[in-house]
Amino acid sequence: MDFRSDTVTRPTAEMRRAMAEAVVGDDVLGDDPTVKALEEAFAERVGKEAAMFLPSGTMANVCAILTHCRPGDEAVMEEGTHSFRYEGGAAARLGGIQVWTFVRENGVPEVEDFRSRIRNGSDPHQPRTALFIVENTHNLAGGRVVPKERLDAVGDFAHERGVKLHVDGARLFNAEAASGIPAAELVSKADSLMCCLSKGLGAPVGSLLAGEEAFIQEARRVRKALGGGMRQAGILAAAGLIALKDGPAALAADHARAKKLAMVLADLPGFVIDPSEVETNMVYVGLEGISGPAVVEACGKRGLLVLAVREDRLRFVLHRDLDDEALGQAIQILNEVAKDPFLKQRGKAQISGKFPMDDGATWEPS
Ligand SMILES: *Cc1c(COP(=O)(O)O)cnc(C)c1O
Repeated sequence: MDFRSDTVTRPTAEMRRAMAEAVVGDDVLGDDPTVKALEEAFAERVGKEAAMFLPSGTMANVCAILTHCRPGDEAVMEEGTHSFRYEGGAAARLGGIQVWTFVRENGVPEVEDFRSRIRNGSDPHQPRTALFIVENTHNLAGGRVVPKERLDAVGDFAHERGVKLHVDGARLFNAEAASGIPAAELVSKADSLMCCLSKGLGAPVGSLLAGEEAFIQEARRVRKALGGGMRQAGILAAAGLIALKDGPAALAADHARAKKLAMVLADLPGFVIDPSEVETNMVYVGLEGISGPAVVEACGKRGLLVLAVREDRLRFVLHRDLDDEALGQAIQILNEVAKDPFLKQRGKAQISGKFPMDDGATWEPS
């Protein structure tokens, strides 16, 4: 039972069949019909002119940033945003682009946050503010949904100031499922957005970037420069088409299971969580007086995989490969593990090995 991430979902039998039978061409030459079908279906689904298939969400975000910004420009985002935290410094490394962050504990930015970070573009001392990025749902903030009104207000403000808005919608359809608002409406003010097919939607590989035709055309050049042009990629797009068609409607079940798990965790001694803050498929739980890595190890021995994102914080992610039965078993294991007295000893004795922490520190048992 793998609760570490929704990236662990495996392609279904139907996807594997579609992959085997996919009609393919050379997508770099623009003639893979299955890739084209996926790009068109996605663009339509999210209400944009055009879309582009990429090997990863990271590459999609990087393509967006490098397309919207020139060297020396500035991109503004909340400090827990994927593009700031987890993309190897790509904006700076590959684009000479400066990132300026702000802090919002629940990840849901206010227009004020962006207003406070905007530069005076006519002053040559200052970088030019070129891009705002909003993550929806916001992973590090616990899978929170950024409400449509908020996103719209940020988009309006961006456009008022000649700035572009990119939405990191790695889990955009989780936001759709949780809010009941169609994805296309959620991102109607976004100049570009990306979405991962390889997370809760269940495809083995691939993400999509969408926006205006001219933007996507330029982003194709960036994708090529990054080495992301793929040839008979229809093999992958075939699975993506199924993920896009059937995946979004299945996400509500993950959210319901996440809520249930949160309620169980809230009753366990040493586990701290407010279930009302669980809006989608992510369950982050704080720990008091017990050690995250010790819980991870105790669960792991019983066949339950979870992630310690800090010594005192665990992450559980619900996804389509975890059904009610798996959740029931996980709950049983957690009830057992919570009674284990060694969890309180902050890992003395029985725990071995190093556990990479989210903040880069490494925790070792004493
Ligand atoms: C997973 C993720 C990405 C990147 O996707 P990869 O395909 O893993 O590169 C970007 N943003 C968010 C919010 C994500 O969760």
